[in-house]
Amino acid sequence: TDQRIFNFNAGPAALPLPVLEEIQASFLNFSNSGMSITEISHRSSYFDDVINDAVERTKRLLGLDDQYHVLFLQGGASLQFAMIPMNFLSGDQSADYVNTGTWSTKAIKEAKIQNKKHVVVASSEDKDFSYIPENIPFSKDAKYVHITSNNTIKGTQFADFPDTGGIPLIADMSSDFFSRPLPMEKFSMIYAGAQKNLGPSGTCMVILRKDLLETANPDLPSMLKYSTYAEKNSMYNTPPCFGIYTIDLVLKWIEEEMGGLEKMEAFNKEKAGLLYDFMEASNFYRATAAQGSRSLMNVTFRLPSEELEQKFIKEATAKGLGGLKGHRSVGGCRASIYNAATMEGIKALVAFMEVFQKEAK
Ligand code: PMP
Repeated sequence: TDQRIFNFNAGPAALPLPVLEEIQASFLNFSNSGMSITEISHRSSYFDDVINDAVERTKRLLGLDDQYHVLFLQGGASLQFAMIPMNFLSGDQSADYVNTGTWSTKAIKEAKIQNKKHVVVASSEDKDFSYIPENIPFSKDAKYVHITSNNTIKGTQFADFPDTGGIPLIADMSSDFFSRPLPMEKFSMIYAGAQKNLGPSGTCMVILRKDLLETANPDLPSMLKYSTYAEKNSMYNTPPCFGIYTIDLVLKWIEEEMGGLEKMEAFNKEKAGLLYDFMEASNFYRATAAQGSRSLMNVTFRLPSEELEQKFIKEATAKGLGGLKGHRSVGGCRASIYNAATMEGIKALVAFMEVFQKEAK
């Protein structure tokens, strides 16, 4: 493990070391089955225990009652962009979308492709998606409201969730799910591709309220209907077993080692605070997200020139600080500091930033 870097990748991203070690230790003989988790039938009691444990841990961590389904799908968060309007909009029904960046834009695009009625009720595009809109004028008759809780590319995040006046709220939480407690009474659906905060790529978690599911279109292909997953405990076909297993271990780590979501949030605030406070006090690094909208998960920043940014990323990489390049669509720098990012890593990054700044001047 002494060859492991401080990993600031946006996703796939760093996972907690104890989780990786447990996977390694159990890999050849999972739960005394004589098989690896990747070789076990999904119809076995071994796998039943895994998926049921992941569902139960999710319910405990989020305080879910039996009004919610906890589902595991494939196709990433991107398939959800298409499945949501497909399942929940029919005929004249319309949905409200809040556009806070690339991923919201892609969600809107999928409603458009299907000719589903929708309204973009707020957007932060006017200021290059650097903030989270407030006082959003939701439509009275919207079937659902869709938001992206954390904008992985622009580094903005909803600190609080909007009051939709009773319209079902659906959130793409791909880059901040399980990073903080959630007011679940506000949400009818949450979904997240696993590869940032939860596990490997290839699995998408969906939390879905039963009353929203009851309104879904029945005439859809089986694999594109939420009810198929809800009726079969996510095992209508072969599920992404390794992904679900890893998610279960990550949830166990959050629950048993990190002390739950309130503590997780306090730790995430402390980590992000260290970086933002350091940049605030510097006249060299500039956080790109507006005060009040800054993400605790993806800290996006610029240096005085693109040349310096390239040098910064190159030298950081050489020092074992990886993944600091901003998304290719925006440039600049980004430190993705999900749940698994350690304080040691953040401190090493700040120390490097201090030295780099001094040497560049
Ligand atoms: N939503 C958000 C907020 C994301 O960050 C990403 C991936 N970076 C996606 C959706 C797309 O996820 P996937 O690759 O799992 O389809």
